Amino acid sequence: AKKNGRNGYCFFTAEMQARTARHMQIVGALRQALQLGQMTVHYQPQFAAADGRIVGAEALLRWQHPTLGAVSPAEFIPAAEESGLILALGEWVLRTAVRQAKDWLDGGMAPLVMAVNLSAVQFRHPNLPDLIKAILGEVGLAPEYLELELTESGAMHDPPSAIAVMNKLREQGVRMSIDDFGTGYSSLSYLKKFKVYKLKIDQSFVRDISTDPEDKAIVVAIINMAKGLGLQTIAEGVETPAQLEFLRQQGCDEMQGYHYSRPLAAAQFEAFARARSGT
Ligand code: C2E
Ligand code: CA
Ligand code: CA
Ligand code: CA
Repeated sequence: AKKNGRNGYCFFTAEMQARTARHMQIVGALRQALQLGQMTVHYQPQFAAADGRIVGAEALLRWQHPTLGAVSPAEFIPAAEESGLILALGEWVLRTAVRQAKDWLDGGMAPLVMAVNLSAVQFRHPNLPDLIKAILGEVGLAPEYLELELTESGAMHDPPSAIAVMNKLREQGVRMSIDDFGTGYSSLSYLKKFKVYKLKIDQSFVRDISTDPEDKAIVVAIINMAKGLGLQTIAEGVETPAQLEFLRQQGCDEMQGYHYSRPLAAAQFEAFARARSGT
């Protein structure tokens, strides 16, 4: 118990205790998850708004644990970041996704850009540009087929360092996109300095785009600003034809969401993409 002000003590509630226990259980289980083969990567297709072609795939980590069940990345990624395990996990995702992109390309599928989520912890690690270069070299994939998604807050944590890392990655030929755009605190002037390629409009704005005039205004503003700065835009969380139609009319370049497809295991993705493109 902890001394709490003038009128006594506050105790951990049963709920707080359960939450802490679950967190510790997750960190413990995460340590072995890779070695035990519990991790897989799923791929969600990204579509060109103009003609509906598949132009990219986002790699999304999946964890199936024998007793915890399927644990959501929204829960285990923060635990992996706090414990430092994200570095090993993130490297594994990068290597797996880059290999997959290479296999698909070699297998004659229509070329697509593989988008991989980067944790801010990975992004801040001084070895990141060398690691990316090494993985691409080892696999033999050209850098223009890799795109790195970094959240707006990850980029804004230390803008001068972020700019230096982005410059380096760009020199290596790798594209960067800003994930969850609109939810962070980007100073718009930094957008010019960040050498990013694409803004990913957060799904929280897309959700009510057909009914909420404010969300509509925000999305229109993001798309027009991106055009002015020469940046590509992709909308995430596109679930309905009405959302898709609005985004297309406004000139959003790419779409991703359940309206088109959920994230798919590699074999399902391949079947889906080949059927659509006739390859
Ligand atoms: P995110 O990067 O913003 O990824 C988008 C999330 O939205 C994914 O959830 C995806 O499955 C989900 N989604 C896609 N389309 C729709 C839709 O139409 N409607 C709705 N409601 N949701 C949709 P997921 O796979 O559970 O991942 C959650 C978050 O976990 C990701 O958010 C990302 O921040 C993180 N994450 C996942 N995999 C990785 C990874 O390999 N590395 C890192 N650092 N983070 C990851
Ligand atoms: Ca993402
Ligand atoms: Ca996102
Ligand atoms: Ca998100």
